[in-house]
Amino acid sequence: MKVVIIGGGIAGLTLGILLRRRNIDVVINERSVGIPARGHAFLMHNDGLTILKELSAENSGALPGRQIDSFSLRRPNGSVIKHIQLQAWQCIKRIDLIRFLYSLIPPEIIKEDRTFSHFIYENEKAIAAVFSNGEVEYGDIFVGADGGNSKVRDLTVGKVKFTPIGVKEVVGVTSNTKKKSKSTPNAFIKFQNKTNGLAFGMIPTTGNEYVWFMQYDPSISDVMHGTPEELKSFCLKLLKGFPTAVTDLLEGNDFASTYVWNTRDFDLLPTFHKGNVVLVGDAAHLALPFTSAGTTNAIIDAEVLTQSLESYPDYEEAFRNYYSLRAYEVSNHITLGRELKTLFLNPQNQNDDDIPVPLIQGKEDSAVAAKKKLIQVVYFTDPICSTCWIIQPLLRKLYLEYGKYINIEYRMGGLLPSWENYNKGKIQQPSDAAKHWEEVCVSHEMPLDGDIWEEDPLPSSYPPSIAFKAAQMQDTYKAILFLRRIKEMVFVEKKNIIKWEYLEKAAFEVGLDSARLLRDFEGKAKELFVEDLKLADQLGVRSFPTLFFRNGTAQQFTIKGFQPYHHFEEIIYKLLPHAKKEAVNADPQYLFSQFNSMTNKEFALLSNIAKDDASRILNDLFKRGNIDKYESKNGVIWTSKFVS
Ligand SMILES: Cc1cc2nc3c(=O)[nH]c(=O)nc-3n(C[C@H](O)[C@H](O)[C@H](O)COP(=O)(O)OP(=O)(O)OC[C@H]3O[C@@H](n4cnc5c(N)ncnc54)[C@H](O)[C@@H]3O)c2cc1C
Repeated sequence: MKVVIIGGGIAGLTLGILLRRRNIDVVINERSVGIPARGHAFLMHNDGLTILKELSAENSGALPGRQIDSFSLRRPNGSVIKHIQLQAWQCIKRIDLIRFLYSLIPPEIIKEDRTFSHFIYENEKAIAAVFSNGEVEYGDIFVGADGGNSKVRDLTVGKVKFTPIGVKEVVGVTSNTKKKSKSTPNAFIKFQNKTNGLAFGMIPTTGNEYVWFMQYDPSISDVMHGTPEELKSFCLKLLKGFPTAVTDLLEGNDFASTYVWNTRDFDLLPTFHKGNVVLVGDAAHLALPFTSAGTTNAIIDAEVLTQSLESYPDYEEAFRNYYSLRAYEVSNHITLGRELKTLFLNPQNQNDDDIPVPLIQGKEDSAVAAKKKLIQVVYFTDPICSTCWIIQPLLRKLYLEYGKYINIEYRMGGLLPSWENYNKGKIQQPSDAAKHWEEVCVSHEMPLDGDIWEEDPLPSSYPPSIAFKAAQMQDTYKAILFLRRIKEMVFVEKKNIIKWEYLEKAAFEVGLDSARLLRDFEGKAKELFVEDLKLADQLGVRSFPTLFFRNGTAQQFTIKGFQPYHHFEEIIYKLLPHAKKEAVNADPQYLFSQFNSMTNKEFALLSNIAKDDASRILNDLFKRGNIDKYESKNGVIWTSKFVS
């Protein structure tokens, strides 16, 4: 079988490389001569990077690009309205990516200076591609990888109706800036107007170089492809009032190599093929650039099409399979791009909290899935409750073994309003808490360092409880990660978690928007916390942890304080007699993929091994660089460094 690829961009080159690795005969036909330099740089998602990483592992060449680990959305006056961690994005210059792909394919496979003109057909089947220089390439399968304005698409599945241009984008790359990328390491920063459709984004590529873009609503003001000076003065005029970081960057930019893009898309096609001609990348589907999904999708298309051709001897079946695997995802990106465009053009109608991150997400709707679980648990806890800390290993085991049945709803109980008139049994002052934590540590083998109560005692547990409610307002799943993280800080790292610097750090680390967390912390989260306290009162919660288990009938069971694991199991079987326990995969990499950090006790319990064995395995993993450790006076927290 011989595959003729038309277009030697991201999709065409990746497909060529992947097919050749399956020993399929390939020719790539590109209209440019030499490595095409057009285009600047893009953000790429891990889904596409993983495919490229495999290619670079097979070859000695390193994958180019720079990891982007945070996104910050700001107003032109500098106020931060969103600040989140990114885990799966890399900024790659187009020219570097194309060079990387070229390095993986023998030069004779790429035929340059071939602008596709038309196909020659025989019995309604394409047998050759004809190029405007008169050259002809015969083959069995033809792939249109010729970008958004694909001629192959026009001549096969038909002309598409592009949406009108609602947003334009000026894109440039500059390294001549006063702003050193060291001061904003690996951060994607976007300044967005609140009153109209205007934004400026900057992403570091290498060293002190940035790719920047200005997105604008052309109804505010517009520029045709004028001289570099006209383009520069247009950008500076529109961005008047934006921070100096923006104007410095523009001042140092070479506008001779800066483009104005007309952003547009088209509806999802009903098919990506006709006969033996199939489309990939932007030729097959086009989403607005707000999603930063184009390159990732082009690479995934190449991978999925290669796998389909390998799995189905009949090429039309392979093409149908390829469509069925790709259509749903790309149509979501088209929809997301349009939603982001509407929001961009109408920023006045928008609450800051509702502004979406302008990137594709792989997030499932965990809130909906949680509500469908057969056993609903209401868990009253507190960030500084030591018994809640020592039942963490049990709750994690419960999650792995019975997680498909159970949803735990976290409520705050308000353990320590203040030390004034505080009288809970043995504990009446911070020094009592110090002593208690040291005792609990010994009897339950979880690390707790009571010295915090001597060195920097918390005056109240209310602020971190309110911060947890603020976290829940964003994402119930990430809120649980946040709670875990602040518990590690207070129990093991001796950090006073009423301090905003620690709450913010924890939020950022677990992927929450720390800027929004602060707004909610000072706003609605307090009300939600008060609601939790009222509910605790109504339900007679007097100590922590208290867990109420229900199954949708009138039956309810309660666990108070520390209880052995089999008590939890007994309740599950009373509520759900046919429940089946999942066997836990004890592979350390798997366990660390489920829980980013673990104590020795947790690892031992989840792996079902003795604590000494757990300690030995964890130390070996540490020596091999798979995990990191935080050592406290009373024990260790191990953190995953496994590549996900
Ligand atoms: C302003 C802007 C910003 C973007 N930002 C991002 C981002 O941040 N992240 C991201 O992932 N994507 C981004 N993209 C999209 C990304 O650039 C494309 O989705 C990606 O390049 C698609 O790959 P492709 O191979 O399908 O098309 P291309 O890479 O465009 O390749 C098509 C190739 O076909 C060749 N060709 C065209 N016509 C013919 C012909 N008749 N005969 C022969 N050859 C032909 C072209 O020369 C080109 O080499 C952005 C796009 C724009 C416009």
